[in-house]
Amino acid sequence: MRSLVWLKRDLRLSDHRPLALAAPGECLLLYVIEPSLRAAEDFHRSHATFIAQSLQELAPRVEALGGRLLIMEAEAVAALDQLYHAWPFEQLLSHEETGNHLSYQRDLAVAAWARRQGVRWQEIPQHGVFRPLRDRDGWAARWRQRMREPLTPMPSSLQAPTLELPFTRPVDTLELETHPQRQVGGEKAARATLRSFLRERGQRYDVEMSSPVTAHTACSRMSAHLAWGNLSMREILQRSEARAELLRHSRPKPPHWGKSLAAHGKRLRWHCHFIQKLEDQPSLEWENMQRAMDGLREDEFNEDYFEAWKAGQTGYPMVDACMRALRAQKWINFRMRAMLVSFASYHLWLDWRRTAPWLAQHFLDYEPGIHYSQFQMQSGTTGINTLRIYSPAKQVLDQDPDGAFIHRWCPELESLSGPLLANPEQAGSLLPLDYPAPIVEHSSAMQKARKRIMARRQTGAARLESRAVFQRHGSRRRSNRRR
Ligand SMILES: Cc1cc2nc3c(=O)[nH]c(=O)nc-3n(C[C@H](O)[C@H](O)[C@H](O)COP(=O)(O)OP(=O)(O)OC[C@H]3O[C@@H](n4cnc5c(N)ncnc54)[C@H](O)[C@@H]3O)c2cc1C
Repeated sequence: MRSLVWLKRDLRLSDHRPLALAAPGECLLLYVIEPSLRAAEDFHRSHATFIAQSLQELAPRVEALGGRLLIMEAEAVAALDQLYHAWPFEQLLSHEETGNHLSYQRDLAVAAWARRQGVRWQEIPQHGVFRPLRDRDGWAARWRQRMREPLTPMPSSLQAPTLELPFTRPVDTLELETHPQRQVGGEKAARATLRSFLRERGQRYDVEMSSPVTAHTACSRMSAHLAWGNLSMREILQRSEARAELLRHSRPKPPHWGKSLAAHGKRLRWHCHFIQKLEDQPSLEWENMQRAMDGLREDEFNEDYFEAWKAGQTGYPMVDACMRALRAQKWINFRMRAMLVSFASYHLWLDWRRTAPWLAQHFLDYEPGIHYSQFQMQSGTTGINTLRIYSPAKQVLDQDPDGAFIHRWCPELESLSGPLLANPEQAGSLLPLDYPAPIVEHSSAMQKARKRIMARRQTGAARLESRAVFQRHGSRRRSNRRR
């Protein structure tokens, strides 16, 4: 059987079921660079670099197995059609993807094309996300069962046809815009990152994940590798659990590891829990989860606020330092992401439909299912989550009391100590002239936002809707509902 393995967000060879299914027969691997997806407002050059790094590592490994990885630059249907005419394959194998709306429509077009050609397209799940799902009852048990399935071994050899395919692009022509502060794509880097987390870096994860001073090294940093599929979720979870089991029996018991790895495992489940929401309701990319929130912010978008937020020039040192760090490194930890979004959605009253795609560009780990669900949660538009408005001042005092992180990213504030970084308006003449005054006043902006959201939430229609939203998307584990 001639099979084409279509690589999407699964740029690896290990635990790759489509590849294993194709391997006994003649097969080719294909990655398609799709202009429409690249031009979308949620895509960034840094994503292209991470993908290119992953493919450049993959290609020689595929060749060493006797296979061939093709790169084509065209819309997916056009690419598949061109390849099909040169090499009529009988089946198309890929992993399921819960992507943005463009990729969903692309998949519908590919399915229609495959039907017309008589090509069988088999899509295989890669995360703990289920298609179709009626409601969330029993979801966690199904997730666990899928995560316990054995890993799929890498094929020992591949058979590729010898064909001239002039329309493909050599992998070494893919552009790389490397940046020393950003994570590098590929299975090798993913494995090294996971190893260092499970052996050393992760020990104090439970207490160090929230501060931007420590999170950079204490967090697993697996998110970009998961988003582009350098390692499977199953493999990461199984390795994390195996390490936890080993440490459980070691004497003396090293401190922190137990709690840290339990917290890590919980978050890996959240990964799939959030993606499941978008899988079940693709409109979460553009519609409020709770429709009672419609019309709340749309007509009040303040472009000046948006520009100040994007530039890290809001006059709130923690917000500005996080934004500048994120733009340089393309990663920031969970709590600081939540604070950035909370500040945009509540203090600045910016509609998440414009801030979300912009931040997606700057997250190397952009994963639409997590991103839009988290964005709505941190913007108060889900109707099922506690309203949480972060105080940027409190975040300075709790997470960066000495100002080390802020000083690094806002060097103009070097002369201000921790307490003054929390309340720069009290710095008087110490406040540098080139740092802006706060663009909004924290307390009044926060109170106004809270009032407006609560007024909507308390209507009878909103309450009724919340119940339906919970039935569809809510976690059935109480411990899951807060972080
Ligand atoms: C507004 C907002 C947008 C976000 N967008 C994304 C996104 O596009 N892609 C993304 O991977 N994460 C996103 N997150 C979740 C979280 O911030 C990142 O997963 C985490 O910071 C990645 O770093 P890490 O791999 O070191 O995570 P760790 O803390 O080491 O966690 C391990 C893994 O668990 C998963 N995870 C951790 N926290 C969460 C969470 N709160 N929700 C869902 N999954 C989680 C991720 O896959 C992560 O790689 C977002 C959070 C917020 C508040």
